[in-house]
Amino acid sequence: MRILFPLIAALGLVAGALSVAQPEDSPAPLKAGVAQQIITPAMNMWMAGYASREKPAEGKVQELYAKALALEDVAGKRFVFVTLDLIGILPSLRMRMEEKVQKAYGLPPESILLNASHTHSGPEYRVEKGREKEAQEYTAFLEERMMKVIGDAITDLKPAAVSWSRSRCGFAMNRRLPSPTGYQNSPNPDGPVDHEVPVLQVVSPEGQARAVLFGYACHNTCLGEFQYCGDYAGYAQEYLQENRPGFVALFMNGCSGDQNPYPRRGGVVPGLTALDLAKMHGRSLSNAVEVAMQVPKRVVGGRIRAAYEKISLDYAPEKKRAPHLYPVQVARFGEALTVVALGSETTIDYSIRLKRELSKDSATWVVGYSNDYTGYVPSLRVLKEGGYEAQAGWAEDVEERIVKKVHELVEETQR
Ligand SMILES: [Zn+2]
Repeated sequence: MRILFPLIAALGLVAGALSVAQPEDSPAPLKAGVAQQIITPAMNMWMAGYASREKPAEGKVQELYAKALALEDVAGKRFVFVTLDLIGILPSLRMRMEEKVQKAYGLPPESILLNASHTHSGPEYRVEKGREKEAQEYTAFLEERMMKVIGDAITDLKPAAVSWSRSRCGFAMNRRLPSPTGYQNSPNPDGPVDHEVPVLQVVSPEGQARAVLFGYACHNTCLGEFQYCGDYAGYAQEYLQENRPGFVALFMNGCSGDQNPYPRRGGVVPGLTALDLAKMHGRSLSNAVEVAMQVPKRVVGGRIRAAYEKISLDYAPEKKRAPHLYPVQVARFGEALTVVALGSETTIDYSIRLKRELSKDSATWVVGYSNDYTGYVPSLRVLKEGGYEAQAGWAEDVEERIVKKVHELVEETQR
């Protein structure tokens, strides 16, 4: 017995020393604010995502949204997630929003994350020859709505219980199928996937669910028609909101450059249209979020820290293209959660690798389609294999440069 006391005391000391490095037991709670705005174009614009479309939109089957979730720590530091039912975030949009948001709300660039759902049933808002006026008019409308939704989310900031959890959803499949002539765009059940559904939930102090921010790594491309629609991600958000008055569901797409929803397209399953499949996959995803809202959760609180930097990515010398300025963003919420936001259409290897390298004490959530839109950004593996997602012709150090910057920014947010 006598021996045991010093032993217990020593163990206590060790446990005490360890607890310093452990996640905070009860981190200071955050405030949260949430808002949404419709961004469906008033006119039938040309649509984004498929070059083969020969005519503009012919109406809508669902509204498109800009949504915002603002979080604030006890020191008053804020971070705002903005999700958009759009093909991507054009660098020009990101640049102007940075200026406006800083001026109007005092938020620095690192404190705002813009993520696009990559719906292929939204407007083409790039300025293209012959369509300059509609792109300019829509962009002005979009920016006004984005400023409103960010402002409304900040105004809505109030005490909240914020938590993180996850579940899984299975309809995303790798779409790079090896064949004797190269890689075909076709379902590959043996290719890498990331089926995790990360969920950040906001509940009022009285226990009322206020918002859920969720993710999935899958191209948002069940549809290729001529009606505006949020596709499966739009339906997942709609289903989560439909029986919860005042509740807002926000979607962030992951590193889904090489991931498609399957089955895909009308006629593949007898009797089911493409729209039916968008709704079914939307229901699958909303069900996964519902489960994540029930499982044990990690409390999200403490300090908010964020870092944002653009790196210069080179193309292969034979491409003779100027380097691309590529944004990398990291946001850390106490000791509970680290969000990594990468630009454009990163392939799934980024998600798998970064989660493996970073998930030690904090949960890691990796999103793509954020803050930039310049087409596919393949991993080194995909770049070497070739095929559709490798066509841009990046230099072979593209993955290493991005991953290195992510690690640097994660370190910066840990200081
Ligand atoms: Zn795409």
